[in-house]
Amino acid sequence: MTHPIVEADNQYVLQTYARPDFVFERGEGCYLYDTTGQRYLDCVAGIAVNALGYGDPDVTAAIAQHAGGLLHLSNLYHNTSAANLAKQLVDSCCVIDRVFFSNSGTEAMEGALKFARRYARDCHGEGKTTIIAFDGSFHGRTMGAVAITAREKYRAPFAPVMPDVRFGEYNNIDELESLITSDVCAVVIEPIQGEGGLRVAETAYLQKIRALCDQHDALLIYDEIQSGIGRTGKMWAHPCDAKPDIITIAKPLGGGLPIGAILMRQKVADTIHAGDHGSTFAGGPFITAVAQVVFSKINTPEFLHHVQEVSDYLDESLQDLMSRHPEIIELRGKGLMRGIRMSIPVATVREVAHDHHLLVATAGDDVIRLVPPLVMQRHHVDEFIVKFDATLADVKSK
Ligand SMILES: *Cc1c(COP(=O)(O)O)cnc(C)c1O
Repeated sequence: MTHPIVEADNQYVLQTYARPDFVFERGEGCYLYDTTGQRYLDCVAGIAVNALGYGDPDVTAAIAQHAGGLLHLSNLYHNTSAANLAKQLVDSCCVIDRVFFSNSGTEAMEGALKFARRYARDCHGEGKTTIIAFDGSFHGRTMGAVAITAREKYRAPFAPVMPDVRFGEYNNIDELESLITSDVCAVVIEPIQGEGGLRVAETAYLQKIRALCDQHDALLIYDEIQSGIGRTGKMWAHPCDAKPDIITIAKPLGGGLPIGAILMRQKVADTIHAGDHGSTFAGGPFITAVAQVVFSKINTPEFLHHVQEVSDYLDESLQDLMSRHPEIIELRGKGLMRGIRMSIPVATVREVAHDHHLLVATAGDDVIRLVPPLVMQRHHVDEFIVKFDATLADVKSK
């Protein structure tokens, strides 16, 4: 029998997502529980959002503590927790001097694009407007963000999108000289591609992009919305020797509540003035108070060491899994942002995994994506392997 909530969803909610037929009602740590009491191991984490898992006591306490305080002020007035969170973010990254808050990832991307255009116009006049993005990119769903998202499916139905975008081939170092020229105002790249299939940008490639951006005074923008804030066992996924001018962040920052941010160097900030950009809701006192707690918990040597350790264990376990399953073509990603490229349809794998009470995501047509809570332990990795093994056996016997 179909659950009444599934029926209501089918009838009243715009059907932009294909959802499975169970309904979750609570979560704890790395597990979600459905209305029949079934427990699922969650390797999706609300798409890399629930870094601290479900029901983190410090996040719950912060929400309770601030629930009776100022929820919203608007950006017309000073706000203690936003200023403190901005300082924390600036202190965590040596090249960053300023922060502009947003409500989501795509909104952070829109701001970054606007700041890049503004910077180029201020410093170089008209005509330096080209944005470089790459195949396999995903930067969000608003008009500017879809314009720099490679997949036709996300872009074509809504054309015309923002003009002056050129796409390069991810990790193709040889084409960079002809791609990044004097008309370029910004290069936007994910250090690890999320939606696009978990490819990791090579350090030499990012260094070359950095050098060309310096040569042409183009801004290097890292989209770390999915890869940033501890996911790889480091605060940032980009290498220290290819530094950005702007970083966009969002997903894990609010512990499940919506917040994003644009982090930038002073030279970018110098070209943005009062009234140039804004947001009614962004960086409100409540959300920034909660985000301070989330960020403080992740930004410690102990926490990051844990992520590295469990990532190493996951890595070994995935290698072992691959040796048993020839339909696994390639392992991708880094830290707790991993891709399993497969020769069998990954949408089927994801669905069959539900029968084994395992939640995994996909990325593109041929990659299973794992972005579990960062608090995942070794025994969760073991449980994942057992369930994924069983899932693949099932898919193959069908
Ligand atoms: C999720 C994501 C976005 C968009 O973020 P939203 O909060 O969904 O708008 C942009 N870039 C990357 C790399 C993402 O993973």
